[in-house]
This record gives sequence, structure tokens and C-alpha cells, in this order.
Amino acid sequence: MRERLARFMYGRYGQDGLNMALSVAALLVYGLSAVLRIWPLYGAALLLMAVALFRALSRNVERRRREAAVYARLRGRVRPFFANLSQRVRQRRTHRFYRCPSCGKQLRVPRGKGKISIKCPCGTAFVRKT
Ligand SMILES: [Zn+2]
Repeated sequence: MRERLARFMYGRYGQDGLNMALSVAALLVYGLSAVLRIWPLYGAALLLMAVALFRALSRNVERRRREAAVYARLRGRVRPFFANLSQRVRQRRTHRFYRCPSCGKQLRVPRGKGKISIKCPCGTAFVRKT
């Protein structure tokens, strides 16, 4: 059985992180469709599953690798945002968070200081109320 599976999968792309994410998303969307009884969501869940299956069985390995690379890059950008989010929630009583208008870096300033000029390490200064 395992040998047969190995032969079947030969030259095919197989699993990767993107497919895992697609499968998890499909399960979540399927759960939502069942709970909320929104049937187009059920179709969307099936579609996500179909895409994951298609990618796993695909023989166009090069293309699937490129998709996986794009996904990894996007995830690398999104993950720090969520890591920061939990920190922001914990510090929201004592600090405010602003994004530098020129470089986009997130800056933390103490609350309750009135209008202050915030200086970013990049050299830009901007005025905000704390
Ligand atoms: Zn800056």
C-alpha cells in the first residue's frame, strides 16, 4: 500500500506549508458554513480542499515551489504583525503605538503626555496626542 502510494506520488509535488494552510482554512470555512448555514461557504471550503489536492498531485513541481515561496514571504510579513499585536494589547493601558509616516516602523510612546513630538530612529519626527 505504502509502496503503491509512493509510486503514485512519484514526480508529483506533495505536501507543503501552503497546502497545510489551505486545508486548515478549508476546515474552518467548512465549520463556519455548517454553523451559520451559509451554503456558498461550503462551496468555498470544497474549492480550498480541491486546490490543496490539486497542488499535492501536481506534476508542475517548479510552479508549486514558486507558489510556496510567495506564501512563505507573505507569512513572514504577517507573522510579526500578530506577534506585535499581543504585545500591544498587553501594553495598551500604559502606551500608545504609532506607525512612522515615512518608514512605517512601529513606535511606542507612553500614554498621558498630551501632544508630543515623536521621533523615529529614521530621523522623521511627527506630532501625536498621547
Ligand atoms: Zn521612521
